This record gives sequence, structure tokens and C-alpha cells, in this order.
Amino acid sequence: MPAAIVVGTQWGDEGKGKVTDYLADQMHFVVRYQGGNNAGHTVVAEGHLLKLHLVPSGILYPHLTSVIADGVVIDPGVLLEEMDTLAGLGIDVSRLLVSGNAHMIMPYHLELEKVTERHLGKHALGTTKRGIGPAYADKAARIGLRIQDLFDEKIFREKLDVVLKEKNLVLTKIYNRLPLESECIVEDYMGHAQRLRPYVADTSKLIHEGLRAGQNVLFEGAQGTLLDLDHGTYPFVTSSNPVAGFALASAGIGPKEVDRVIGVTKAYVTRVGAGPFPTEDTGPDGERLGEVGREFGVTTGRKRRCGWFDAVVVRYAARLNGLTEIFLTKLDVLSGFPAIKACTAYLADGETYEDFPPHQSLFHRAEPAYEELEGWDEPLGEAGSFGDLPPAARKYVDRLQDLVGVRIGVVSVGPAREQSLPVP
Ligand code: GDP
Repeated sequence: MPAAIVVGTQWGDEGKGKVTDYLADQMHFVVRYQGGNNAGHTVVAEGHLLKLHLVPSGILYPHLTSVIADGVVIDPGVLLEEMDTLAGLGIDVSRLLVSGNAHMIMPYHLELEKVTERHLGKHALGTTKRGIGPAYADKAARIGLRIQDLFDEKIFREKLDVVLKEKNLVLTKIYNRLPLESECIVEDYMGHAQRLRPYVADTSKLIHEGLRAGQNVLFEGAQGTLLDLDHGTYPFVTSSNPVAGFALASAGIGPKEVDRVIGVTKAYVTRVGAGPFPTEDTGPDGERLGEVGREFGVTTGRKRRCGWFDAVVVRYAARLNGLTEIFLTKLDVLSGFPAIKACTAYLADGETYEDFPPHQSLFHRAEPAYEELEGWDEPLGEAGSFGDLPPAARKYVDRLQDLVGVRIGVVSVGPAREQSLPVP
């Protein structure tokens, strides 16, 4: 297993942190490849319940090198805070590596995101307001500052002055805000530079050398496929590419290195923020999924919207990512429903669509065609093997596998590492 990619197949929060945790023992590197501190992996390990926003969840393992790759955007202050929290829990952060090519989130990104979201009013995207979108926008506009700029104060000042002039004009003239002081930013970021220096490395080279030496690399995405900037439900998406293909571009690794693409799929669906969601259930069933599944955002505390499994979405994700297998999470949350619904296709304008609609308007109008499956009452958390699950639960898993057309390799029935049942 040289390199494996773990990718969410829905709208995020599928439980990717748990999968990384499950596979970590076999790995040498865990590489975070996109997003910023808008992710929220929850990991239960060694008696700690950890909420990681930016640091790869591989940090919990002393044998692993954790990498933040080029394609991530980093708020250095937030990164250092997270490292301090981990160190405070006795977790060794010395094996964290950060790419010098990663772009930085700057104070004006946070400020601008706040005012632009407010300006959009009812059309607001519902972003996490961490400055991630504006940082990616500046990267594309080629006015971003990168981690490596921290280590040349002259260059840092030059780049900052150019960009801050424009940002301050926007802040003051358009949004009527106070301008930001260049000197304060320089002071803060130079302070971060001192502390971050030991962690910054040529991560692409190190991963490449690891692979050549027969080591295993796990790429860990944040968010989910339907939030992909290119392939998701634009504009209600994230500002980077969670799809598996981006792991390679981000880390600077060729496609031939990867032999497993593991789709993390929740046994139902959740979504945070605005945007279409055909199988959303706003009635008591959705409410119950949210309560039992504890569907609140790790980063924002926002309540997630909940609904039934959508095979159209997961088939689409299987195609976009080239999934080799699925890790099905949160099956335990479905215990106690007399019947469980699964969406097999969409109905729109008198037609049936089995594939994800290529036009957004069609997706907005899509009504789910449901199949009803038998529920089960038993709690699943104590099951020691897949065979211990009630027949109806096993049947549900089999049916999802048929609907999606990808092998379900492991079924998860609780947050702990042991609550992962390989499917024979
Ligand atoms: P991620 O961002 O994809 O890692 O997902 P989150 O961490 O936001 O959400 C997953 C949440 O579900 C975490 O609180 C996990 O501990 C929890 N979780 C993961 N797998 C299971 C499972 O099989 N059952 C239950 N009940 N909780 C799970």
C-alpha cells in the first residue's frame, strides 16, 4: 500500500478523522492536502477526544510524520495554538511538517470575509469566516503570501505592503472599516516565523523519498466531494478541491503512487450551511438523526442539516474520486427507525435521473425517489464483528453497496477505533 487517499463522499463530516485513525498504524506519513482551519476532524484516541482543525489527525501517533501540504491555507497563529493544545495534552508535535509553499491566511482575509458575507445578505454562502476563501482567491490572483515568506522579512514586508494597500482601500472605501496596520501584521507574523521555522520543510521531496523507501502515505482530505470547488454544488462549496485528484497536485506526488482511494460515507447525509440538499428531512426523522448522530459542527458549533442516504450523490463521488472502497460510518445512528429510506434516483420535470445532474437548476428541483428498507431496534455499538449486526442492518449495508457499486470494506458503529467492523 504505497499511497492511499481518504476522501469524504458527501458534504463533509463523514467521519474522515476516524478512518485516518483506523489506518494510521500501517502508515508512515499522514498528509493533509486542502482547506484550512475550517475542517473539524474529531478523533477519539488514547482517552482523548480531540478536535483538530488544521493539524492532520496522524499527529496522535508517535511513529507518523504528519504533513500539511502545499495546497492547504494556513493561519499561522491558529496552527501554533493548535500545536500548543496538542503539546499540552502530552502529544508530541515535533513530527509535524509544513510545506513552505502553503499559502497563509492573513488578518485582512478574515476581515474581508466577514464584511463580504454580511454584504451578501440573504445570499451569504454560510462560510466559516476563517479567511480561507479570500486566502485561496489571493493565491489564484498571485498576491498571496506563503509560509516561506516568513523567513525573509524584507520580502514579507514588500509583498504585504503591495497587497495591504489594495485591501485597505477595499476595507475603508467600500466597507467603511478601519484600515489594517502593516507594522502590527509584520510583528505578529515574524513572531510566528520564529516558532514555525523548525517545522517547515520541502514536504514534496520528503514524501517522495518516503515512497521510494517503501513507506506508506495516507492523504487526508477535509470537507467532502460535494463541496469541491469544481465538482460540488457551486457556489455552495468550499474554496479548494477535496476530490482525491487534488491530493496529488497539492502534495506534489504523481498519480501512479496511489493504489487505494477510500471514500468515507455516512449511512445517512448531513450538510452544513446553505445550498441544495434533496434528501434533507426537516421533520422528526431529520431531527432525530441530528440528535442521535450529534450533528453539530466541530469548527463552528452549527447544527447540521440531516437527511436520508443519497445514492446519486455517492455514485457521483465514486466516479469523481475513482473510489476503490467505502468506509461506511455512523450506521449505529440508524438504530430504532422502523423504516429507513435510501434515495436511488432523482425525479425532476417528469424524468428520472440516476446520475448527478450536470446542471444546477435540475439539482435544485430534484425530488428524491426513495426505496424503503426495513429498520432495526438493536443498538450496534457493542457489535464485535459484521456478522454480529442484526440482519436488517447487514441488509441495509448490502443494499447501499449495490446502489453505489463500490465495495463497502468497513462499517463503523461508533466513534471509537474498535467500533470498526471489516465486512467479510
Ligand atoms: P470528519 O470531518 O469527516 O472527520 O467528521 P467529523 O469529525 O466532523 O464528524 C464525525 C463525528 O462522528 C465525530 O464526532 C466522530 O467521533 C463521530 N463518528 C465517527 N464515526 C462514527 C460512527 O460510526 N458512529 C458514531 N456514532 N459516531 C461516529
